[in-house]
Parts: sequence; C-alpha cells; structure tokens
Amino acid sequence: LTSKLPKVGTTIFTQMSALAAEHGAINLSQGFPDFPAPERLRQALGKAAMAGRNQYPPMSGLPELREAVARQIQRFRDVVVDPVNEITIVPGATEGIFCAITAVVKTGDEVILLDPAYDSYAPAVALSGGLPVHVPLGGTGFKPDWGRIEAAITARTRLIVINSPHNPSGSVFTQADMKQLDHLAGHYDLLVCSDEVYEFLVFDDQRHYSVLEFPALRERSFAHFSFGKTFGVTGWKTGYCVAPPALTQELRKIHQYVAFVGVTPVQAALAQFMDEYPDYPATLAGFYQQKRDLFCQGLAASRFRFTPSTGSYFQVLDYSDITDTPDTRLCEQWTREIGVASIPMSVFYQEPPKKQQLRFCFAKADDTLQEAARRLCKI
Ligand code: PMP
Ligand code: GLN
Repeated sequence: LTSKLPKVGTTIFTQMSALAAEHGAINLSQGFPDFPAPERLRQALGKAAMAGRNQYPPMSGLPELREAVARQIQRFRDVVVDPVNEITIVPGATEGIFCAITAVVKTGDEVILLDPAYDSYAPAVALSGGLPVHVPLGGTGFKPDWGRIEAAITARTRLIVINSPHNPSGSVFTQADMKQLDHLAGHYDLLVCSDEVYEFLVFDDQRHYSVLEFPALRERSFAHFSFGKTFGVTGWKTGYCVAPPALTQELRKIHQYVAFVGVTPVQAALAQFMDEYPDYPATLAGFYQQKRDLFCQGLAASRFRFTPSTGSYFQVLDYSDITDTPDTRLCEQWTREIGVASIPMSVFYQEPPKKQQLRFCFAKADDTLQEAARRLCKI
C-alpha cells in the first residue's frame, strides 16, 4: 500500500501522553485540563441523556446550541451571527478545520501555514491535493512577519491558516496583525481558516481579535472554536465553525459525509450551561493567567529561559542553557528520568529552527504545576 500521508505517524500528543502514563510522569504534554469541568455542565449531560436526547441532532447542530453560540458571540464580540446559515456545530474543531480545508482546497492550490503550526492543518491540505507553504513566525516572540507572508503568496495561493491565541507558542495576534491579514486577504483574494479555539485564554492586558470582528475579513473566513477549550471538556469533542452562508454551505457538504453530526446530549448540555452561565467565558483569562503565573514563578529558580505565555494554555521553555540534546529525545528522557512530560517544539515545523524548546501545558491543578516546576528546577 502506498501511504497517502507517508511522513505522518501517530501524533506527538498521543505518543507523549502514553509515555507519561507508562512512566507515571506528570503529564504537561497533551493539552487538556486535569481538573473537573463545571459540575452543572456535567450534570446537564447526564440529564440530557436521561431525558432521552440520544438520537441524531440536525446535521448543522442542535438549534438551541447554535442560538446559544450566536448569543455568546454577540455578548463577547458585539457581532451578529445567523445561527441558521452561519454556525455549524462540529464534533471537535479538528473536524471543522478538516472540513473547511477540504471544502475549498483543490489540487495544486497553495495554502499558507505559519510555523510552528498545529499538526492537523498540513495533512488536511495534502489530502486535498494542495501544497502547504510554510512561513515561519518571527523571532522569539512568534509574531507574524507580514512582509514574508506576502512574499509567499502566488497566483495559486487559495487559503491562509492562522491560529491566535497560538498553539504551541502562546503568542497572540494584535489588532495591527488582523488589519494586515484583512488587507492581504482582500488584496490577493485569499480565503482564511482562523483557528480561534483559545479565544478566551488571553493574558495580561491583551485582547483576542476574531476575524468575525472585521467585516471584510469575515466574508472570506472560516472561524473555528472549541467547547472543549472554553468549558474544559476536551473529551466531549464538540466545537463550531462560523462562516458566511456560502462558505458554510460548502463546509456542510463535507461535514455531512465525514461525521454527519455531533453528539446530541453533549450539545444539549452545552446549550443549557451557556444559557445558565452566559458570563462563564469571562472567568477563563484570570483563571488560566493565575496558573501561568504559578508555573512561571515556580520556574524562576530554574535554568530555563522563557517569556511568559500571552495566550492559550501553553508555555514554551528554552533549555539551551541546560543541554544540547535534541528536543524529541529530551522529552522522552525527562518523562522517564524527571517525571515531567512535555512536547518538543520541533514537531510543529516543516524546517525546525536550531532552537532548544519544549512546550508545557499549564491547564493543570495548582499542586500539579507546583510539583512539575519543583522537578524542573532540579535539572
Ligand atoms: N486547534 C488547536 C490550535 C488546538 O490546540 C486544538 C486542540 N485539540 C484543536 C484545534 C482541536 O480542538 P478540538 O479538540 O475541539 O478538536
Ligand atoms: N490540542 C491538543 C494539544 O495541542 C491536543 C489534541 C490532540 O491530542 N490531538 O496538545
């Protein structure tokens, strides 16, 4: 058999979580909370199942959830979105992103990806016969270099994938970045796949700018979100895609044959919780910033170099003052020997830079973070 994805193996997240479990290590590798989701949300899921909400929902998602999403977008972004024609509930942002890319990328189309990039984008482009064009985010701050991005655009460029707040670096696009994107996408007639799954996880005095807030950009964008991140239930695998009606229609053509629908009781529970606690997302930035601070303070006496993350729930640590072991090997070694699992940064690049960096997830209980920092300080 000739593989359609010859260079793809099992994802690093699956590998590292398995290794962490095997060695009983603290798992700061794969991104997911190790603390419980809101009790009312968990209760709502049980109630929905017991109330018999166990058969297929509509293909685009339960109407009550799409309406709750529209209200949330209005509340936090002051943007009106049509829940019927512009919101699709998907079984995870991963599926939404795959469907969006598949819906618009044709054979020979070029798609701009900004490295380091989340691992699911490039395979989706490749399976559609497209060519990923990797442009690095700049310097230590992982900021987009718009001159370099513009230079990578050709007549065949169809789509640009952006991700802010950014996994793995924790960087956040500024308003100026969004204006540049708006300008380039309009000027070169590009579509945009905007991965905003960490939209509420922005720290210090920053703010997340959604493509939905820029009218011209919104007209050419798929915006992807994940209830898994916002409500701390990654295993519920539920997210949504917001796109103008014409793009939504194309997305749904694919979605109906990839997954058809998401999970009914999960959707019902999320809708009920969002109805009862519309301000819940406003608590997230402070909650995760405290965790970031706790982790970073715990590392103050370590030999790692780092700039505190400004968004997402990931912290990058530079270990070049400690060892020159390659990051993929070091991750395994430290999982076994130190008892802390992380993710090597090199896996997020087509051409990894000569940097020694690891990604740590701080969506963990305070004592987990403190113990991990204590172990990392001993290196
Ligand atoms: N995009 C990014 C940047 C992510 O970190 C994740 C996390 N898994 C996803 C998309 C996928 O989200 P979901 O679990 O809803 O599929
Ligand atoms: N998004 C999560 C991370 O970056 C992992 C999701 C997955 O395992 N595919 O760690």
